[in-house]
Amino acid sequence: MTADRAIRVLPRSAAERIAAGEVVERPASVVKELVENSLDAGARNIVVEIEDAGRRLIRVVDDGEGIAARDLPLAFERFATSKIRSAADLHQILTYGFRGEALPSIAAVARVEMVTRPPNDGEAARIVVVGGTRDFLGPASGPPGTTVTVEDLYFNTPARREFLKSPAREFAVIVETVQALALAAPGVSFRLVEGGREAMWYPPEGFAARARRVLGPHVAGQTFELASNRGITELTGVFGTPQVAQRRRSHQWFLVNGRPVRSLLLARALAQAFHTLIPEDRHPAAVLSVRVPPGEVDANVHPRKTEVRFMRERPLADEVVREVRRALHSVPLPHIVPADPRAGSRARGPDTTPEPEYPVPRTSGPGAVAEALRPPGDETETLWSGAGAPSPLWPSIRLIGQLGLTYVVGEADGDLILIDQHAAHERVLYEQLLARRATEGARAQVLALPAVVDLTPVEAALLRELGPALGALGFEMEPFGPDTIRLTAVPAIAAGRAAEELFRACLRDVGDDEIPWAGRTLEERLAIATACHTAIRAGDRMDPPTMTALLGALERAEDPYSCFHGRPTLVRVRGAELERWFYRRG
Ligand code: ADP
Ligand code: MG
Repeated sequence: MTADRAIRVLPRSAAERIAAGEVVERPASVVKELVENSLDAGARNIVVEIEDAGRRLIRVVDDGEGIAARDLPLAFERFATSKIRSAADLHQILTYGFRGEALPSIAAVARVEMVTRPPNDGEAARIVVVGGTRDFLGPASGPPGTTVTVEDLYFNTPARREFLKSPAREFAVIVETVQALALAAPGVSFRLVEGGREAMWYPPEGFAARARRVLGPHVAGQTFELASNRGITELTGVFGTPQVAQRRRSHQWFLVNGRPVRSLLLARALAQAFHTLIPEDRHPAAVLSVRVPPGEVDANVHPRKTEVRFMRERPLADEVVREVRRALHSVPLPHIVPADPRAGSRARGPDTTPEPEYPVPRTSGPGAVAEALRPPGDETETLWSGAGAPSPLWPSIRLIGQLGLTYVVGEADGDLILIDQHAAHERVLYEQLLARRATEGARAQVLALPAVVDLTPVEAALLRELGPALGALGFEMEPFGPDTIRLTAVPAIAAGRAAEELFRACLRDVGDDEIPWAGRTLEERLAIATACHTAIRAGDRMDPPTMTALLGALERAEDPYSCFHGRPTLVRVRGAELERWFYRRG
């Protein structure tokens, strides 16, 4: 019985190393703390030098206000900060730092040297702290500003080293960290040097330009912007169009009151704003900056201050969804196959346009559509009468014809337009179904011959759950025996389709867990399934009036550019691109 379980106070150095672990989780945390200090010091230019992914060396050089020589030792004291004076200040934090624990924490687990000189002082001061113990303090030579050099990170806490990921991964996190702070301070220049090689250089610029730079060249060419200031929330953002949605969330950046943060709330709001416009496994690329009054947000919920809590989450999320969607709808014609940049913007479409293959009726609204798509002798209402006004951004498309029984081919301003007939019709029907349900209730088409449907036990169980949602869309049914129903009406848009087949397909889809339904209500799922099984398919022949009708309906859709699976409905090939194909220019 020698186990000594007496309570002891840890030696100070041990306690500090444990506390340091919270702040100095990985090399990128050091970079974050040092760059934040530089920004707090009003730096205009910041250089970050890294060696061995930060294990051997992290150096941050700034041209900020520096520290007076007499205050220098204090900077490495725990809870010593120049930024807040009392606990009350905590509610109105405008600087990044305020806990006064970054420098002592870093110095507890590394060899740290700071050389600093306020611009008006003739001489710099230098301090060296190794594993929490001061090694040197005295005058030195150096330029105005501050240089902090962190070497041999975790030399005295080898266990921490073990937890580090691969150098490539750690360096990637450092890059992300610098990028996040660069977004917060677009007017500041940032240079990142790794192993003597320049990995990143951002000149001083405006927010939108900085955002595009961080999103990268692939996204930067296809963005739209948001600037809204309604009520107490101010939103500023740069977003990739749906075509450049990414497989990973790492292309999403959020700033709250100027501070880079992670926010599940904002990520979800974005996902909702792009809902049905991009495939379920993609994420919108975005830089979104949110400003709310300081009292509306708690930045102090996390020791590294990377997460925030909003006082009123729901209204904020709703506003983000609404405003991003509004901005999204003002993007002219996405799904552009970009012309080769070498072709230049001077290149114009051909001067003469070929004659149409056959005369095209004017897009004449829902009446023509109904005529076109109505099965002969059918008495349904006009199919797409509830559609909204045409978008002013939608190009006027001249119909050319059908390609491979799959695409509708058209021309707009000398550009080639290809429309996926199934995807386009799906989008139109889906919006119809949901709009109808919201305004006047679904229109049902009573079946001349009710269909008797025998249900499997699974279908029967599903039906009990789905009954009301099915009814809202226009499916009407009555019990007809233990596991049998009689289907008496289907949604009007589906009139003419085999009723029983459609009904079963809808039930099956909605109950299918393989389909990524994330975030969709039962009614949305049913609308999707119904639209999907009702829409014109690839392989269906379409005559010109039908195609014109489809174009007209798509023009009136709220989100005409993609089907609800997030696939594009329309692709536009620039006239300039066509010219390049034929070596006509450039
Ligand atoms: P905090 O940032 O929370 O105040 P730190 O430990 O990061 O705590 O820094 C302690 C203090 O050192 C800061 O409050 C600031 O006065 C000073 N300081 C740190 N880095 C710099 C810098 N790059 N330029 C000027 N002053 C600095
Ligand atoms: Mg700090």
